[in-house]
Amino acid sequence: MSKPKIAIFDFACCEGCQLQIVNLEEEILDLLGVADVVEWREAMSEKSDQYDIAIVEGSITRPEDEERVKKIRSRAKILIALGACATMGGVNKLKNNFELDDVKKCVYKQDANKPHLSTALTKAVDEVVNVDFKVHGCPIDRKEFTYIVRSLLLGKTPEIPDYPVCVECKAKGNPCLWEYGQVCLGPIIRAGCGARCPSSGFRCFGCRGYVDNPNVDAAKDVIEKYNLNIDDLKTKMVLFGSTQEPTL
Ligand code: SF4
Ligand code: SF4
Ligand code: SF4
Repeated sequence: MSKPKIAIFDFACCEGCQLQIVNLEEEILDLLGVADVVEWREAMSEKSDQYDIAIVEGSITRPEDEERVKKIRSRAKILIALGACATMGGVNKLKNNFELDDVKKCVYKQDANKPHLSTALTKAVDEVVNVDFKVHGCPIDRKEFTYIVRSLLLGKTPEIPDYPVCVECKAKGNPCLWEYGQVCLGPIIRAGCGARCPSSGFRCFGCRGYVDNPNVDAAKDVIEKYNLNIDDLKTKMVLFGSTQEPTL
């Protein structure tokens, strides 16, 4: 029986999530034992139009990107969005808050109108094509990536945490950063990172996106308890371009 074929593609991003895959080292060899990687620009020169699983990193920022990701979708049985740029638009989506012409002039100066520097509003991959699974985070968690791909190769459906970061944070016994005046998004953001940031003393910035049913009432209680500004919290929620907008 032939091995399932995997192809990895990148769009607008820093490629940091692919780097996490490269850094899997020995674990990647285990994966390669049960699947063939047939295209992966960051690690090999071969290309292929034949694959079962397409892993897409990056956000969609140009009309030609939309056409390309649609082609990838049409060839793949399963499409995985890799990292916050792909799952939510990521930091690239911040540009949607400004006039596109102003953004281009800011970045490209006198070259802004050159045709090869075309740009459009940033979209997450699932705003253009159907996405089967999302590997959340900026960057992704290597272990979670391995778990998701391994599950799919075994024909199982991976379980992605559907509870907030606070659950993992409290399980680790961390002091809550709200006590220190930090606007931590942990109550409304999807867990799975092991509360990486609060465990190091930094607030959660929301890179894994909103949990499916964010406990907005609890978040409100926390905000009111610490007498902080609700607009501050909303502003911090858009850093990674989440398209869900829970009402606070
Ligand atoms: S999600 Fe973060 S680490 Fe991954 S490609 Fe985007 S910016 Fe880079
Ligand atoms: S709000 Fe942040 S620091 Fe506080 S428990 Fe939740 S994740 Fe931890
Ligand atoms: S704590 Fe928040 S910002 Fe940090 S990795 Fe986890 S989800 Fe991302």
